[in-house]
Amino acid sequence: MNERDSLKVNAKGHLEIGKADVVSLCEKYGTPLYVIDENHIRKMCKIYKETVDKYYGNGTVLYASKALSCKGIYNIVNSEKIGIDTVSLGELATAKSVDFPAEKIYFHGNNKTKEEIEFALEYEINTIVLDSLDEIEYVNEICKSKNKNQKVLLRVNPGVEAHTHSYIQTTRTDSKFGVLVANGDALNAVEKILNSTNLIFYGLHCHIGSQIFEKEAFVLAAEKIIEFVKDIKVKLNFMVKELNFGGGFGIWYTDNDKKMKEDDYREYVLALIEVINKYVENGEIDKPYLAIEPGRSIVGEAGITLYEVGNQKNIEGIKQYVAVNGGMFDNPRNALYQAEYTAVLASDMNREIKNTVTIAGKCCESGDIIARDVKLPDVKRGDIIAILSTGAYNYSMASNYNRNTVPPMVIVKNGKSDYLIKPQTIEQIMENDNLPKI
Ligand code: PLP
Repeated sequence: MNERDSLKVNAKGHLEIGKADVVSLCEKYGTPLYVIDENHIRKMCKIYKETVDKYYGNGTVLYASKALSCKGIYNIVNSEKIGIDTVSLGELATAKSVDFPAEKIYFHGNNKTKEEIEFALEYEINTIVLDSLDEIEYVNEICKSKNKNQKVLLRVNPGVEAHTHSYIQTTRTDSKFGVLVANGDALNAVEKILNSTNLIFYGLHCHIGSQIFEKEAFVLAAEKIIEFVKDIKVKLNFMVKELNFGGGFGIWYTDNDKKMKEDDYREYVLALIEVINKYVENGEIDKPYLAIEPGRSIVGEAGITLYEVGNQKNIEGIKQYVAVNGGMFDNPRNALYQAEYTAVLASDMNREIKNTVTIAGKCCESGDIIARDVKLPDVKRGDIIAILSTGAYNYSMASNYNRNTVPPMVIVKNGKSDYLIKPQTIEQIMENDNLPKI
């Protein structure tokens, strides 16, 4: 495991997160249980913010709240003086409910609805990131009808696609996000925005993928974006004022991933700053405002999920299944894209590890697997298993499949704990059911 301040083994042989014994947490709150360490989240916010402030001076960090969105998280990142990137009415409304400062909110999405755009305009958020040629006119018309002018960025596709441990350069990338630079669409889009009545064009956005470890992928994308900035200057006589390089910085899930220490994330931002500075020092561009949007790396390793072991099934010579009382309804990432995880026997970290097992959920779906081929000791009914690095894209992707309730999330800090998200009840699941009278 990626042992660090937030994750340790205590004298009882129990896993501890944020100095809280996970067995005690299970006794107090039940299982399945998401647990997240506040200090880790704050530390990550600080690292990104300090790096942008100290080494660049003219920029912002936006927490990509799709990774984990709820009122308490918005309060934490706000108190760390960073902004948020949002992608839906639900995220915007949650931010508004805790008075998240509008001037620190960006709004994304490849198909924003009229209702969402209107909400963003009323809220007077900082920036709408336009995602397609089609959307330019659409958003402009809504702004016009509301008599508002809106700062916008254009999301472009620089033709760099990054995957976990590799990246590729393409001239034509098939993606539902962003406007292609290579075929001239992006230049047309910029011209269209500049000629619009109610959109104030500031600059460009790109996000090349998630769970990326290679700095080179970010550097290459940044270079391509800045070459496009130069193109805009030459062809449209406009100097871009802002560059937003998105998120995507990788985290440790298993030992196939780099064991990142918190401070290592500074390097990603410094690599981006270096690229910008190179062009600025050569006099090729004016120094732009810089934005980054880390999500997974702020909350991912801060979180774990705790489950109780139930039935086991050994298919001799084929596979040993250990079923837990959660599943794809609290963590669909393996079912969705074969995501890998590390599991530990949190209630007895010193028991000898001798098996390779697959941790199955309790849903009626063969693909309902939490983690495949993980190393564990012999386990018995009632033992507590922790799946590590579940702070990002777990709760936010949870569902009520099979009418399972979404587990609560507890936040821990220096040994203390409280709900960040309270348990959902079965009554809440049934709340919107209607018995039709037709
Ligand atoms: N920004 C944008 C536009 C994204 O689409 C995403 C993720 O999908 C992010 C930021 C956050 O990425 P990550 O959580 O990998 O840092």
